[in-house]
Amino acid sequence: MSEGPYDLAIVGAGPAGSAAGIYAGRAGLNTIILERQMAGGQVVISPSIENWPGEKEISGPDLSMKFRGHVESYVKIREFSEVELVGHDRLFTISTPEGELVAKALIIATGAEHRKLGVPGEDTLSGRGVSYCATCDGFFFKGKDVLVVGGGSTALLYAIYLHNIGCRVKLVHRRSEFRGEKALQEKVRSLNMDLIMDTLVEEFMGEEQLDGVKLRNLTTGEVLEVHADGAFVAVGEIPRNEIARSLGVKLDREGYIEVDRKMATSVPGVFAAGDVTGGLKQIVVAAGEGAIAATSAFDYLMEPYWTESG
Ligand code: NAP
Repeated sequence: MSEGPYDLAIVGAGPAGSAAGIYAGRAGLNTIILERQMAGGQVVISPSIENWPGEKEISGPDLSMKFRGHVESYVKIREFSEVELVGHDRLFTISTPEGELVAKALIIATGAEHRKLGVPGEDTLSGRGVSYCATCDGFFFKGKDVLVVGGGSTALLYAIYLHNIGCRVKLVHRRSEFRGEKALQEKVRSLNMDLIMDTLVEEFMGEEQLDGVKLRNLTTGEVLEVHADGAFVAVGEIPRNEIARSLGVKLDREGYIEVDRKMATSVPGVFAAGDVTGGLKQIVVAAGEGAIAATSAFDYLMEPYWTESG
């Protein structure tokens, strides 16, 4: 027996899925949010957020808790419920480890995940010194040598966070300029940390535990080995598009979901919001897209010719 039918299933409880849930709940849609991990998405692992209106500075976990409390006053969030498959005719049948549920419309708000460097030692030393989340693992490296890899806002935030908790930080970036937000660049420079520019990571070294990183300077060709107890990789993201693929939703060249101004995808009844749609990856944008997606799902369900049989 399938659970439902719900009016709307939202996959992902990050800022996009959360905002969609609030709008859907307030519109009176019988809605469920399915989240593969804890609610909050990548916000949970963000050390500090300084561009969410109304909060000059707030930690990721604190903002996530606020989102969650707000969402749950309208709709249910089912955590640790990974969607394995979505099938559809007029209704969407969603398989999770707990069983099947059925919904009339779907919002994909599955976000993006960390890109790996793909160098020797990365996989074997992952969780043994190599990490993708400074807020989760930084604590273990207090007073120790750490390397942050990347030049975007995430890498800059990680470097600042790790410096502030007492790590000795080296920041390694493949170009001579950072890509991340100017305010974060200025903060990093003001901390006088070791900035290793024009440099690639070639290998993570260590037997049981990371103890060094092999670097190559792209200008001089010089290969350098530096000691590191921890290495935090922040080199961008790839979209979590498995559900979209299983439904035959149209993706762009980089694998992000193509949407129109209403956040509608190429499949009727399927909407998408947040980082999985690409573009400007900001909490405020994801939340805005979630609001649009839920409103569009409401309009879709209110179409006078909508019936379960098609
Ligand atoms: P990002 O902006 O895509 O930056 C990725 C960084 O990794 C770039 O500097 C890139 O170098 C480098 N890189 C990529 N592949 C690499 C490789 N194979 N080897 C070495 N370096 C590599 O990713 P992000 O920092 O995770 O941010 C993701 C999104 O979230 C962005 O849209 C960002 O604006 C947003 N974000 C915003 C904030 C904020 O506003 N405060 C905070 C966090 C994230 P190049 O620069 O040479 O390409």
